[in-house]
Amino acid sequence: MHNAKAYSAASANDPLAPDTIQRRDTTDRDVRIEILFCGICHSDLHTARDEWSSIMPTTYPCVPGHEIVGRVVEVGSAVTTFKEGDLAGVGCLVDSDHACDACDHGVEQFCPDATFTYNWPDKHLGGVTYGGYSESIVVDESFVLRLPANLDPAGAAPLLCAGITTYSPIRRWGDIKGKKVGVVGLGGLGHMGVKFARAFGARVVVCTTSPSKKEDALRLGAHEVILSTDAEEMQEHAGTFDFILDTISADHDINAYINMLGLDGNITLVGAPEKPLPVSAFALLFGRKSVSGSLIGGIAETQEMLDFCGEHDITSDVEVIPIQKINEAYERMLKSDVKYRFSIDMASLKAG
Ligand code: NAP
Ligand code: ZN
Repeated sequence: MHNAKAYSAASANDPLAPDTIQRRDTTDRDVRIEILFCGICHSDLHTARDEWSSIMPTTYPCVPGHEIVGRVVEVGSAVTTFKEGDLAGVGCLVDSDHACDACDHGVEQFCPDATFTYNWPDKHLGGVTYGGYSESIVVDESFVLRLPANLDPAGAAPLLCAGITTYSPIRRWGDIKGKKVGVVGLGGLGHMGVKFARAFGARVVVCTTSPSKKEDALRLGAHEVILSTDAEEMQEHAGTFDFILDTISADHDINAYINMLGLDGNITLVGAPEKPLPVSAFALLFGRKSVSGSLIGGIAETQEMLDFCGEHDITSDVEVIPIQKINEAYERMLKSDVKYRFSIDMASLKAG
């Protein structure tokens, strides 16, 4: 085993602080990665603060981080797809059983025996898995992604979660060319949703609570912006959307968005607020509308998304911070004051 410097939360109420964790020795099939950048996802904050305790309680210490880009520093003897020196990415998944229907269909995130990158039972070392707020990570090569060389590593890190989480439902919905697509919440996920929906030819409309983000939304690729706090503006769009991607991290009135869907319209939730959202049956019945959910994406689809980003030069708009600013970054994320993803420069962990 190796010691690795990391930042962890000791309890739901503690700020993140420097810690030392253990990483396993590289097995035949493993890739050992020195982490260069790690994005900060709102799921990191939900988990560090145990906000999902009713579904997946947090085990402490907790080392979040599942938007990892790094340099391969060691490979096991059976590894064929990576070599020392390669740039590599790791997202929300680090293992699965490779044997079930979900794995067969390339949706490893639904494998009953999937291992998520942090706060999940660690099959190798016991305890729970530790994420990317750390100097290194050891991962089975089949869960390591190849990073297109033209992408800036700091901006590419968030693709590993925010990217795939928005790419996957947009692709699955079908051909969105010319369709009216709403992206609700312009944060880490939302701004990637805008970029992908635009890249696939949709007419993109952002719904935001933040008037200060209007211009950015247009710059990121939206054709139009709705201030969701303005009921009149919302009502003007009633019944007009084909598809809406809801990325909001907190409690909100989902019926206000269902009301904006047209016939057979769908709203897909990717945001994961702590509490259930009441849905009006009538809002769905009139117009045969549907509500669905989507969870990250499988490994092959994540690679497809990264390759697409390489071809179209798509990365996340990031604010690069040292790890020492992590707690401040969490507070700013809670205030929706992120433009539009924090990416931690892990060199700061070595220095600190
Ligand atoms: P984020 O960067 O904090 O963005 C969330 C955005 O939601 C904010 O920027 C804000 O946008 C809006 N918002 C926040 N509070 C709100 C409120 N009370 N009412 C209305 N709008 C509000 O978070 P993120 O990293 O994008 O993650 C978003 C959610 O997705 C989180 O719950 C996260 O856990 C979840 N998630 C799910 C998956 C999945 O696989 N399904 C993957 C990753 C993350 P405006 O300022 O534009 O209003
Ligand atoms: Zn995430």
